[in-house]
Amino acid sequence: AKEQGRNKIFIYSNAMQEKRVATMELANQLHNAINKGELTLHYQPIIDLKTEKITGLEALIRWQHPEKDLISPMEFIPIAENTGLIHQINLWVLKTACLQKKIWDKVCNCSLKISVNFSCKSFEYPDLAEQIKNIIEETGINPTDVQLEITETTFLDNLQLGIEILKKLQKMGITIALDDFGTGYSSLTYLINLPIDAVKLDRDFINKIGHRKENEIIVKAIIELAKALNIQVVAEGIENREQLSFLKNIGCHQGQGYHFSKPYPPYVIEEQIKILSS
Ligand code: C2E
Ligand code: CA
Ligand code: CA
Ligand code: CA
Repeated sequence: AKEQGRNKIFIYSNAMQEKRVATMELANQLHNAINKGELTLHYQPIIDLKTEKITGLEALIRWQHPEKDLISPMEFIPIAENTGLIHQINLWVLKTACLQKKIWDKVCNCSLKISVNFSCKSFEYPDLAEQIKNIIEETGINPTDVQLEITETTFLDNLQLGIEILKKLQKMGITIALDDFGTGYSSLTYLINLPIDAVKLDRDFINKIGHRKENEIIVKAIIELAKALNIQVVAEGIENREQLSFLKNIGCHQGQGYHFSKPYPPYVIEEQIKILSS
């Protein structure tokens, strides 16, 4: 048994070592991925729950690695955050999504809002608001058609600077959504203290609808609170009719999820937009 235990430890540390090497290799490759055009955006429609029509799209990044399948953002965004590449990626996503939006507006003959995930490190740049302004002006879209999704952890480092930047962005007409709402323990404080226009209710809440009464009570309370604060609620991860009708009944404003559409590359989304806007 002792022998076995020792072997286990050996195998374990070996696996950790391999993982570290793989992560370093990925970090090196990610560095080139932007220039080589390997990063790509999929988009998921965001729906007005009252009309069940599309109001906008969330851009979700993927990495088309030359030797692997599509790599999930869960895998490489943390690496990008640790290596400082994230800021460049955030700006690339914004620009690409803005350009794509212009194409779609022609397709649907409407104006869709584009929602972009913007992670923490970017908010350490005091001139972030100007950088964003430049991109939006260059691409020629209306700032009110742009939403930035941020998470609570974004601001743990420098709350004052973060709030300052958010206020500048809002002044330009950009809207701010607090992502993954309800997963952190200080959520309610942030809801009141951060200048935000919307909260995205985490999928963990939505997929328990119909299974846990306590959970439904919380969802209802969050929506009422947000309404009182004049904040929009977007439900994430709506997968079935039951969840949808519960959310409609309690007056949730918007939602997204597999029930309406999965995230897809632009050529597929173009068809989804036609369906969801008519
Ligand atoms: P998120 O912002 O919370 O995005 C929602 C995730 O839920 C997406 O995963 C989406 O594909 C998935 N999802 C949407 N509807 C459903 C549903 O009905 N059921 C289920 N089971 N899942 C659903 P994805 O695309 O893998 O993205 C994961 C996370 O990676 C995102 O979470 C976001 O935090 C981050 N991320 C994605 N794109 C970007 C980006 O461009 N920049 C940055 N900084 N982070 C990004
Ligand atoms: Ca998001
Ligand atoms: Ca989220
Ligand atoms: Ca999430």
